[in-house]
Amino acid sequence: MTNSSQPRTVSGIQATSDSLHLGNYIGALQQFVTHQESHDAFYFIANMHAITVEQDPAELRERTLRTAAQFIAAGLDPEKSTIFVQSQVPAHPQLSWVLECTTSMGEASRMTQFKDKSAKQEHVSLGLLTYPALMAADILLYNPQLVPVGEDQRQHLELTRNLAERFNYRFGKTFTVPEAQILKATAKIYDLQNPGAKMSKSQPSPQGRIDILDDAKALTKKIKSAVTDDGTEIAFDPENKPGVSNLLTIYSSLTSRSVDDIVAEYEGKMYGHLKVDLAEVAVETLTPVRERTLELLEDRTQLQAILDRGAEKASAIAEATLREVYDKIGFI
Ligand code: ATP
Ligand code: MG
Repeated sequence: MTNSSQPRTVSGIQATSDSLHLGNYIGALQQFVTHQESHDAFYFIANMHAITVEQDPAELRERTLRTAAQFIAAGLDPEKSTIFVQSQVPAHPQLSWVLECTTSMGEASRMTQFKDKSAKQEHVSLGLLTYPALMAADILLYNPQLVPVGEDQRQHLELTRNLAERFNYRFGKTFTVPEAQILKATAKIYDLQNPGAKMSKSQPSPQGRIDILDDAKALTKKIKSAVTDDGTEIAFDPENKPGVSNLLTIYSSLTSRSVDDIVAEYEGKMYGHLKVDLAEVAVETLTPVRERTLELLEDRTQLQAILDRGAEKASAIAEATLREVYDKIGFI
């Protein structure tokens, strides 16, 4: 059951890969799991956002279910959180249209995600430009107080807040203006091979990305071959030692130990020691998630039933908001 006396939280992850990566896990999923205890929580698999870049249909279908399985395997409890697939709640694209008509071309084309992703595409879809309006709809339909995301979504969240305020100003109080929850320490996990870039599902080379479904051997290999920095001292200095600082951030968030505590433990030791121990911690944390995901994927009927139930619960709330919006803007 959702608990409507609690404050509400909403967030989503795109179905753009077979496995989520450690950035999604630390920057988003771990927060989702925490907030389901204190919030009326809605978490969705963003398959509509996924098609802003080209997707193979069979792969998209598979990745949608795999993402749902990983949500649950990482600790989301369908009894506490409403877990659903974006395309199963038609109010999302319906509100998105209204918000597209509230957003200026200038605002949309200033978004750095649009600039980054469009630069990498041969064919740039209109959906890639209007992505933030759909994201604003995903959020505003549920009137949440809190939206946990990674650093890369800060700008989209700011636009969502602006759109909510703009709509409220023009048509009277309709939307809650949500707060982004971006945890400073873990908001941006970097690529292990290129510690200047965010770890990403859409990064073509998997070498710098730790997938949470990687087996022990792959995890260990990737961590051991992570790019480190000049010098030998293990210190947290993101500017001058981005590689080792990233490893320390990951270590800290997987063990709930402070970075200072870990740095103190490795005083006088080599990068290699840190990598060996981090690989062990990653294997210990992620092996159960991997096993549980594979187990859940063996019963797809049950997984689909959880998603159907989630879509039903989400729709009830989303449709009420959409009706109010349609009424206010003059749709009969
Ligand atoms: P894509 O490359 O397809 O955009 P992605 O890796 O960016 O995939 P998303 O599904 O777009 O993943 O993002 C899901 C959530 O994970 C968002 O809240 C996003 O901010 C967060 N996130 C993504 N990458 C990182 C990262 N490297 N560090 C921390 N959080 C991240
Ligand atoms: Mg992304």
